[in-house]
Amino acid sequence: MVPFLDLKTQYFQIKEEILAAVTKVLDSTQFVLGPEVKAFEEEFAQYVGAKFGVGVNSGTSALQLALLAAGVKAGDEVITVPHTFVATVAAIRYVGAKVVFQDIDRESYTMSPEGLEAAITPKTKVIMPVHLYGQPVDMDPIMAVARKHGVLVVEDAAQAHGARYKGRGCGSIGDLAGFSFYPGKNLGAYGEGGLTTTSNEAFLRTLRMLRDWGQEKKYHHELLGFNARLEGIQGAVLRVKLKYLEGWTEARRAVAKRYDEGLAGVAGVVLPKAYSDRRHVYHIYAVRVKDREGFMKFLADKGVSSAIHYPFAVHTLKGYSDLGYAPGDFPVAEQVASEVVSLPMYPEMTDEMVETVISVVKQWSATNKPS
Ligand SMILES: *Cc1c(COP(=O)(O)O)cnc(C)c1O
Repeated sequence: MVPFLDLKTQYFQIKEEILAAVTKVLDSTQFVLGPEVKAFEEEFAQYVGAKFGVGVNSGTSALQLALLAAGVKAGDEVITVPHTFVATVAAIRYVGAKVVFQDIDRESYTMSPEGLEAAITPKTKVIMPVHLYGQPVDMDPIMAVARKHGVLVVEDAAQAHGARYKGRGCGSIGDLAGFSFYPGKNLGAYGEGGLTTTSNEAFLRTLRMLRDWGQEKKYHHELLGFNARLEGIQGAVLRVKLKYLEGWTEARRAVAKRYDEGLAGVAGVVLPKAYSDRRHVYHIYAVRVKDREGFMKFLADKGVSSAIHYPFAVHTLKGYSDLGYAPGDFPVAEQVASEVVSLPMYPEMTDEMVETVISVVKQWSATNKPS
């Protein structure tokens, strides 16, 4: 049996350290923000290559507050992709902005720079590319368009802890970036958590106020803020885990390499693309198959779990139907969403598990003789 995800094995490997760190927070009664969060903010920002980090209560808040700090207001336009987790799009809606979709590239599954400039209007405030699956977006052309038109860039780095583009950390390339520490993410808290990175001091100040009721000095509320603070326990857990992240990321990359090699040329299965100038951190290892349902059932029958990230392009979802788009508007995103399947991927996968997945996928290919 190969589960899709396993958080327990990792937890038991670091349990003693985690319990000591959590106990320290409990003993200090610094339950919200506090020294562990502050230290984590500094360590994580440094890890990413940004000057500052602001710990918040979720990746969604990290994006929402980044948009607010960027000055996005009701009626402004924000450009993002329809092939992402809905939180990307929800964050834009929460700040009252209009969502403008830009289709994805058919190889990287991330924002296509093609036609991006044509999507810019006088109302465009922010471009928000998503480093989906841990694959760094081709940022250079996007930054070039943004700079040319005086538009800011907010990276959705919720799946891209430690990913790099041409040597630069994802989360340090745009003006602001949002990370998620949802438990299943590459760096996961033991609860909810997120963080916004920036290297701009004015944004830093606004972000700190926004997450804490709009105050810098207690009870001097300068703007409409939120209760969006990161908890002390999560800060402590994340500090422990950050020390291991590089090792875990290399383990993910090793699994991906075995999949790449073991599944190369297997008929009917399109593998994810890796670029030599980008460090993919494989939050998700997504292949594409035509008969997804049959593929997933075949795997499940042989004890291999798989998942879909994500089955529907956002503009085709009922809850987002009022954005003014219709099926057919973004053909690449729609096709990719209809074909992607995520294979098991986590650092603790054994060689035997990886070989099992490869062998089962090969059996499917041989049995189904896809063209
Ligand atoms: C997980 C995720 C988010 C939201 O993060 P939460 O911590 O769950 O709020 C945003 N964007 C993407 C691409 C994500 O994967």
